[in-house]
Amino acid sequence: MPIDKEHARSGKKPIYIGRFAPSPSGPLHFGSLVAALGSYLDARSKNGIWLVRMEDIDPPREQPGAADQILKSLEAYGLHWDEQVLFQSQRHEAYRQIINHLEAKGFIYPCTCTRKDLQGYGGVYPGICRDKSDNTKTQHSLRVRCPEKIIEFQDLIQGSIQYALPDLGDFIIQRKDGLFAYQLAVCADDAYQGITHVVRGYDLLNATPWQIYLLSLLNTTTPTYAHVPVITLENGDKLSKQNHAPEIPLDQPEQQLFKALQALGQNPDKALASSSVSDILRWGIAHWQIEKVAKRPSVPLAALS
Ligand code: GLU
Ligand code: ZN
Repeated sequence: MPIDKEHARSGKKPIYIGRFAPSPSGPLHFGSLVAALGSYLDARSKNGIWLVRMEDIDPPREQPGAADQILKSLEAYGLHWDEQVLFQSQRHEAYRQIINHLEAKGFIYPCTCTRKDLQGYGGVYPGICRDKSDNTKTQHSLRVRCPEKIIEFQDLIQGSIQYALPDLGDFIIQRKDGLFAYQLAVCADDAYQGITHVVRGYDLLNATPWQIYLLSLLNTTTPTYAHVPVITLENGDKLSKQNHAPEIPLDQPEQQLFKALQALGQNPDKALASSSVSDILRWGIAHWQIEKVAKRPSVPLAALS
């Protein structure tokens, strides 16, 4: 098979490889700190490898300098990663090869639908181009043909999750403008980096069945997933780059780290708030209990002291 997955790591295959995979569409905000910290603590508490992967596949949405800013923030917060940061912008050739492979196997098809064609379907692709032949002349995206299959997985935080793939619809792996889609890049690289554990925000829970299915098409073992609550503002909106969540401050990481531990349900003792970054992280690793993370979609920022 022409797919370069599981690049060589010397020695035995590690039993835990986690990752934090930010998109450089803005600086690191408190919501992404919570996801990063959850992923870091889970990995370190299991003596695992923890990687950082920069998901820079969407230049129009990227902010100049954001990738560097994110890495600086992670360092200031003591979240030191192993190995070199993998930049998805360097992985286009691998993505192309995977698309060729999926195409040869008949797992994907071209879709010429416009945004207008898809109005009124609640974001679920209605399959318009599934059986069209010769749809490749005009500009098109590429979609994965999802079978009538139920995907079930055990989320380490959210419990048993089940989705019927037809309820999610066929998904895009290459956009009309030629850019590779997140679903493709995330699976290609989780496979390539041998990721065994994915700890990330709840907003990606419903993309997980697609990713499990796509990984199965790449003959890759599915990682274990854990989705931590996202952080919401008073009006219920998720803290995100889209709603201009502020960058976490670089000068006083202790207080934010303490709050992030609270957001993850770890009940740190008040005294820890005035400790150093390394002491807070050491406490976090020693006391990490993933079962204490709230089994729910979100935690309001206002609930944290
Ligand atoms: N790059 C994605 C984001 O920032 C996260 C990818 C992932 O953790 O799977 O939303
Ligand atoms: Zn279509």
